[in-house]
Amino acid sequence: MKHITDHVFVFTSVVQQLNSIVIIEDNYLVIVDPGFFPGEIASIRSFVQPYEIPSRTLLLILTHSHFDHIAGVPYFPEYAVVTSNTWDRDNEERAIRQLEHCDTEFYIDRPWEHGKLPFVTTHYHVQHQETLGPFQFFHTPGHTHDSMSFSYKNLLCVGDYLSSLEFPFINASLSDYQNTLLVITELVQQLSPTTLLSQHGPPAEGTEIFARIDSAHAYIDELCHLVETAQQQHYSWSNMLAQANSLFYQGRPIPLGLKSVHKRNLKTIWGEYHHSLHMSLIPES
Ligand SMILES: [Zn+2]
Repeated sequence: MKHITDHVFVFTSVVQQLNSIVIIEDNYLVIVDPGFFPGEIASIRSFVQPYEIPSRTLLLILTHSHFDHIAGVPYFPEYAVVTSNTWDRDNEERAIRQLEHCDTEFYIDRPWEHGKLPFVTTHYHVQHQETLGPFQFFHTPGHTHDSMSFSYKNLLCVGDYLSSLEFPFINASLSDYQNTLLVITELVQQLSPTTLLSQHGPPAEGTEIFARIDSAHAYIDELCHLVETAQQQHYSWSNMLAQANSLFYQGRPIPLGLKSVHKRNLKTIWGEYHHSLHMSLIPES
């Protein structure tokens, strides 16, 4: 557990360095994306228990509907769930299947009812720029359609954006993703947060915040440039993919374990470029 400020603590999972943020306020007790493995979730539970007093509203904030971010929800039934009002039920359904696959493949013992994770019941469907107590929420789609960020005092929590561990994961939309990077940049300029918390890996402070934004832009620009060149030169998909796989991110080759995500990004960008040209050349694989 890492102490960020007086009221903010971060628990980091061994899987994907997923961060669960705990915020203890006078009137609110908040957990963001509550953990992954049962033992890790139990540690968060026992940490927050002394602070669960009647004067505090208990909130679970979910930054988006990916499986690692929703796995801990059923362990906190007393907490009111906060999601974006764009919550993507189809994506959540895929996430639940993925979680079931993971749990049954690796024999992870979770006390799901009838072996199934229930759907999330949202109590607060927040709109873009809506506030709830000291928290302000912002819709930041692109990673998923339902991704959201929020500010709290001098912190900005941006979900799965701007992690130091990974290049952008553009699961939903390139244009939304690019717009979200602009929205986050504006928020950083307006709010001047001292700390930016990504949901995977260490936080960023000071100039590192802008360095991460620049890295995300550079990665996307490079893939877009490759796709544009491929169109002009009539590259095949496999030729373009081979070139994409030889790219570097932050001075290092694309890690083996992230190549499938890199390929999916390329496919998303390829699809959006061809769509804009009214062509239907989306590759099969
Ligand atoms: Zn995610």
